[in-house]
Order: sequence, then C-alpha cells, then structure tokens
Amino acid sequence: MHVETFAVGPLGCNCSIVADLEKKSAIVIDPGGDYEVIQKRLTKRNLTVTAIVHTHTHFDHLGSTAELQQSTRAAAHIHEADRFLFDLVPIQAAMFGFAVPGKAEVEGSLVDGFALSAGDVELAVLHTPGHSPGSVCFVGSFSGRTIVFSGDTLFRRGIGRSDLWGGDGRTLFRSIENKLMCLDDETLVVPGHGDSTTIGEERGGNPFLR
Ligand SMILES: [Zn+2]
Ligand SMILES: [Zn+2]
Repeated sequence: MHVETFAVGPLGCNCSIVADLEKKSAIVIDPGGDYEVIQKRLTKRNLTVTAIVHTHTHFDHLGSTAELQQSTRAAAHIHEADRFLFDLVPIQAAMFGFAVPGKAEVEGSLVDGFALSAGDVELAVLHTPGHSPGSVCFVGSFSGRTIVFSGDTLFRRGIGRSDLWGGDGRTLFRSIENKLMCLDDETLVVPGHGDSTTIGEERGGNPFLR
C-alpha cells in the first residue's frame, strides 16, 4: 500500500492518497482543498480513483470533493450521521469566513465495518463519533503495520474538539478508548491535521487521555 499525506485547504486539512501503485488504483481521503495539488499527484502516478472518502463532514475536509468527483467520476462517501453537516457546509464555510465549496454527490455508506478497496489495498471503516456524529477512522495495513487515518478524532498530543454541530465530549472519549486505544502500540496514526504519531506514543504522551 502506497500512502502520501499532504496538507490542503484553508485550515491545513491532511489529505491522503492511499494507492495500489501496480494496479494504478487509489482512494482519496479528505480532499479538503487545493484540487490542483491533489489532481497533480494522482496524474503523476497515473492513478484511477475508486472512492473519495471523508473522516467527517466539516467543510475543511471536503473543499475539493466536488471538483475531484467531476474529474474522476468516483463515488464520494460520508457516514450518514453527518448528512446534516453536509447540508450545512455552506453555513459552516460562511461561519469560518471561507469560500463555499462546490456541491458534490455523497453517499452515506461509511457504516462501521464497511470495506473500501483500490486494487489490492483495503481500508476498513471504524465509526468513531464524538467530534461529529458521523466521524469515522479508516484502518489499513502499511508495510506490515496497522495504519489508521484518524480524522479530527485523535491528533498527535491532542483530541478533536466537541463543541461544533453535534459534537459530544463523552462520546469522543468513548470512541478513542474503545475503537483506537485497543490497537497495537506500533499502529501508525495519520490525523486530520498536523503530524503523524502512533497509538503507543499517544497512550503514553497524550495529555487529554490521562
Ligand atoms: Zn473537523
Ligand atoms: Zn478538521
């Protein structure tokens, strides 16, 4: 599995391209903006996008979804519990003072346990509500290790905020505890913003999880 992660959009959302380079097939996680940057990376490796997926439906994680969907014709997925946030995207963007993203067609298919594939690469969905009701993490295998794309649920030395639409602090803690902290210490964590980390590092060093 090939993984490249880079910050995009007005709030530096981490977009990841997860690909099977032999079969030229890819999944794009959180195309939060900078469509040209994302497209250029896909074109460079001649990748066909099989799915566009979102760790949750805050506007800064789907700023380029519509453009990417137009160019790739791929299905875009959210968790259905974030549907109301999808409908609120124009209001979310206006509230933070940013341009309103184009409107994509999204399917609410990211239920817990749902599997996405691109060539021989597979990602499984973990429903981790709290930052938003439909927040999910994507779990795969990378160089013999587990890798989890944690969105705004878990950050390096931080956790997501729970004061936005539908957020809930206790639910967030429960999701982190029950769905993420049970993973191996060596598990790589690629958060929705900022640097990567591991489950072991956060188990020991995350000040919010003590
Ligand atoms: Zn968020
Ligand atoms: Zn975010």
